[in-house]
Amino acid sequence: MFHKYLYLAGERFKNPHLQTHLDALMKSDKAPLEELEKIQLERLKKLLHHAKNNTNFYKERLKDIDIDTMRLEDLKKIPILTKTELKAHADDLRNAPPGESLIKAETSGTTGDVFLFNKNIHWDASFRAAQYRGYSWYGVEPWDKSLYFWGFKKNFKDRLKIRVLDFLLNRYRFFDYTNEEFERAAERIRQSTYIAGYSSSIHMMAEYFKKKGYTFDNIKMVKGTAEKVYDSYHKSVKEVFGHKITSEYGSAEAGVIAYECPEGNMHIVMENVIIEEIDNKIIVTNLWAYSLPFIRFELGDYVVLDNETQCACGRAHKIIKEVTGRIGRKVYGKEGVYSTININHTFKNLSFKHGIELAYSAKQYEKGKMVFDIIKDAQIDEDAARSKLISSAHEYFGDDLDVEVNFVNYSEGKSKKQKDFESFVEEDPA
Ligand SMILES: [Zn+2]
Repeated sequence: MFHKYLYLAGERFKNPHLQTHLDALMKSDKAPLEELEKIQLERLKKLLHHAKNNTNFYKERLKDIDIDTMRLEDLKKIPILTKTELKAHADDLRNAPPGESLIKAETSGTTGDVFLFNKNIHWDASFRAAQYRGYSWYGVEPWDKSLYFWGFKKNFKDRLKIRVLDFLLNRYRFFDYTNEEFERAAERIRQSTYIAGYSSSIHMMAEYFKKKGYTFDNIKMVKGTAEKVYDSYHKSVKEVFGHKITSEYGSAEAGVIAYECPEGNMHIVMENVIIEEIDNKIIVTNLWAYSLPFIRFELGDYVVLDNETQCACGRAHKIIKEVTGRIGRKVYGKEGVYSTININHTFKNLSFKHGIELAYSAKQYEKGKMVFDIIKDAQIDEDAARSKLISSAHEYFGDDLDVEVNFVNYSEGKSKKQKDFESFVEEDPA
């Protein structure tokens, strides 16, 4: 109880609109598709008016759009906004929506460049409300006790600051990944309602608990963030905690785009974002981003949408079937250049044809060669997996790519963010 009030006081202090957004999202949680699209159209019109009236960029770009009479389909008439364009016009796009306070935010790109912007308060509230609605699907309240498994190590001062923040949010965060820490974690997990963090860290811990014979029946949700959740992670996590890893998909700019329901489908938060798939690329319109409007923004991920499935959970929100990779990173063969989707296909194919599920980190140090580091797993016959993986890669890269397969342990003692693909090859000019 204490934590509930502490939490509510803290959140209201930070963002007084959070509860309003959460109430609205809970109300439309089981709304039919037509109603969700009606909400989208209304919010889209407001956003377009704001963007047109407050920025020169959209004043020009939207000059032929009759906003008041438009339908959702007419969104397609607006050109796609690229990251380069967003950055080039950022000074013009940044604006202060009347009556709204602003919160500082930043994105860090793959190349390490940081982009600073301000979020209007409704943008921030909509983001966290979407997260909390996702929690509610698992019976988790935002103030419930939780454990966070983060990848980065911080210095003592930063850790202390985070500890205080975490105390207010009723969570405890782990920075170290040693057996002693896992033993301490086990005690805390028994008093917690949910676990969140890097999926590789959660999986590593689950593997340790499995060996020890520990199980936990008090955990309602295991949420993986920031990293790709490999299918092979689910088995031990489910055995130990009773749930597979739930995925949350989003970005700093777009907020929570989709949240996985207990049936295993990633539902788009249609009340907050409009999502399109064009040539497998995700295009995002954030309906609450007024202080930096991005309309039909090319976020940089490849995705597959599923517009057919009627989810058994009863939600009509459209589904993202899969996030298949980052745009812009290339795999270099001896001759050709390939999309990173091919790596994804290589492993999907291996799982589909041979039932072999691997957690991998693909690394390219030189053109024409790929190193696959595979996380060791007692269940896997390494020789068989190696030869089948090489032949699966051959299906997508032919003779153009030599493949080296290593079976590795998680790095002991410290865990950094696990990347599915890293390239150290200098890119050819586009
Ligand atoms: Zn569902």
